[in-house]
Amino acid sequence: MVGFVVRQAIRAGKARVYPIGCISLGQKGQQLAEFGEMVGAGAVAVSDDGKPVVSSQLMRTALEYAKVFGIPVADHCEDPTLSLGGVMHEGLVATKLGLKGIPSAAEEIMVARDIVLSELTGGHVHLCHISTRGSVEMIRRAKQMGLRVTAEATPNHFSLTHDLCLGYNTNAKMSPPLREPEDVEAIRQGLKDGTIDCIATDHAPHHYDAKQREFDDAPNGVVGLETAIGVGVRSLVESGHLSLPELIARMSTVPARVFRLPGGTLAVGAPADVTVFDPTRLWTVRAEDLHSKSTNSPYLGQTLTGQADLTAVGGRIVFERGVQIPDA
Ligand SMILES: [Zn+2]
Repeated sequence: MVGFVVRQAIRAGKARVYPIGCISLGQKGQQLAEFGEMVGAGAVAVSDDGKPVVSSQLMRTALEYAKVFGIPVADHCEDPTLSLGGVMHEGLVATKLGLKGIPSAAEEIMVARDIVLSELTGGHVHLCHISTRGSVEMIRRAKQMGLRVTAEATPNHFSLTHDLCLGYNTNAKMSPPLREPEDVEAIRQGLKDGTIDCIATDHAPHHYDAKQREFDDAPNGVVGLETAIGVGVRSLVESGHLSLPELIARMSTVPARVFRLPGGTLAVGAPADVTVFDPTRLWTVRAEDLHSKSTNSPYLGQTLTGQADLTAVGGRIVFERGVQIPDA
């Protein structure tokens, strides 16, 4: 599967695709998957993302085994016994809507455990899509202790709150859920001081019909690739948390360093993987303008700042706004 993804990505030639292999066989959380074969085929990390690694014993073994291959173990931090049945953040808005909530503790318990296991094993743990102020504080302390802990946040979690769920808006439903204004501010501060290393979209396309269901039954996840730079400029640069070069680093060189990838830099001799964007352009997110086949964006109708105009992969232009580029 890893090899298939790598080969399809090379054939399409539109972007660099670095697959992440499973931690457990079939993501069942029981037996460790074969890391060596997956790394040999091109996997750059392991994760059961979508699902947490429930067993601490399995997580410990994964961290020890991954160390042998020099790759991080990326975890979706969620205690399923605490999040069971929950569909949004546990708080005032969930109460108002009569929906079952997921407490911040569901994430924080797993963040704490992963930090402890990173210390025990010396392994590199990467914490996916951090969403709570408690998680940010624990990661900050772990870094001060010199542990091999890295973290990422999504644009959703540094720009939106659980208020967006009002009206049972299923494009505000995701895992982890949108939290409170204090959490959003903590994530922005975490990005500012380097506690949170990088920005990742957690891009999750869903068919229109799937998101048209009742809030309880709609799937988790939103699209995020086309709005990432616009949300980053609006919610981090214009708000004074990051400079524009810092924002770019958190989306290019820093993630490349975390996952030990060759790209992400404009250094002489590096592959010409370049995005050209206008950091000042104001644009309104409209479903009909998105290139994705899915339009489950939480930003529909919002005005963002900054938009990409051109993308080159290995020196070849693969996207230019308003221009039809033939397939390779
Ligand atoms: Zn996840």
